[in-house]
Amino acid sequence: ETLANKIAAGEVIERPASVVKELLENAIDAAATQVTISIEESGLKSIEITDNGEGIARDEVALALKRHATSKIKDVDDLFRIRTLGFRGEALPSIASVSELTINTSVADNADVSGTLLVAKGGQILQNDPAPKRVGTQIKVENLFFNTPARLKYIKSLQAELSHITDVINRLSLAHPEVAFTLINDGREMLKTAGSGDLRQAIAGVYGISTAKKMLHISNADLDFEVTGYVSLPELTRANRNYITVLLNGRYIKNYLINRAIVDGYGSKLMVGRFPIAVIDIKIDPFLADVNVHPTKQEVRISKEKDLMLLVTKAIKQALQPETL
Ligand code: ADP
Ligand code: MG
Repeated sequence: ETLANKIAAGEVIERPASVVKELLENAIDAAATQVTISIEESGLKSIEITDNGEGIARDEVALALKRHATSKIKDVDDLFRIRTLGFRGEALPSIASVSELTINTSVADNADVSGTLLVAKGGQILQNDPAPKRVGTQIKVENLFFNTPARLKYIKSLQAELSHITDVINRLSLAHPEVAFTLINDGREMLKTAGSGDLRQAIAGVYGISTAKKMLHISNADLDFEVTGYVSLPELTRANRNYITVLLNGRYIKNYLINRAIVDGYGSKLMVGRFPIAVIDIKIDPFLADVNVHPTKQEVRISKEKDLMLLVTKAIKQALQPETL
């Protein structure tokens, strides 16, 4: 069991940023509206995530560390869920197997008279005790990969690991404007989003207020797709595609063709080698998307992709139009 978890961890938990992603997705799944991420040494020393979500019931905390013991299969009605199925019930056991894990959690209702404090090391539960009630869940992951030296060796620079972490948090902040995220790195606040539900405000939290002000709202739809979001004015560009965020039914995806459709929308307004800042949310019937790819990769196959590309390009052209008049 412990070994199986360690093997699964090799698949799902590549680096500190993978831990951050999994824990944040759990917090979001638990309907948290405020999430604070505090990391030390780019997450290698510690990652602490505090949320105000539903919490975990007393008798389910230990279960959450068992592979496939938990499942969110109840509501498979959106793409979001379908993709989580790939490794459902695998993240926490995987993380636990390669770190020292502390979970402090309570449920809001009166079914449990106390909360829970659980401590595990390398997947072995050392402590599972009642604890004072709190709001939501706090999960701390320390000494990641302490028992997998090969994985630790593959981690090259703290700077690179930190940028992977901020990338994960940026994308999730943009995908979830309704959640207020705070990132604290070695005691210093690096990001704070409002959690107001407004995408432009989320953009302000991630890229700064002046950037957010230079974003144009876009909106377009046909029978199959609905495209909304914000794209930067042509004078506000970056040297790489990293500032383009494409969401499919609210979930971050990587899709080369949609990126190209975004750039196409700018036409000659964009200098060669420059890319816009963009956050584009595509709503689609889940039947038109094939998410049956590797769970940790955000690649998706979309039917009628050509139509979607044209729709995206046109939405951007329309938004940029007033400028040229
Ligand atoms: P899943 O694929 O279900 O997300 P995980 O291993 O990531 O599997 O988490 C296991 C279970 O632990 C979840 O299904 C959920 O019930 C519970 N859980 C984990 N993190 C939280 C959290 N922050 N708040 C509430 N419940 C959580
Ligand atoms: Mg999860």
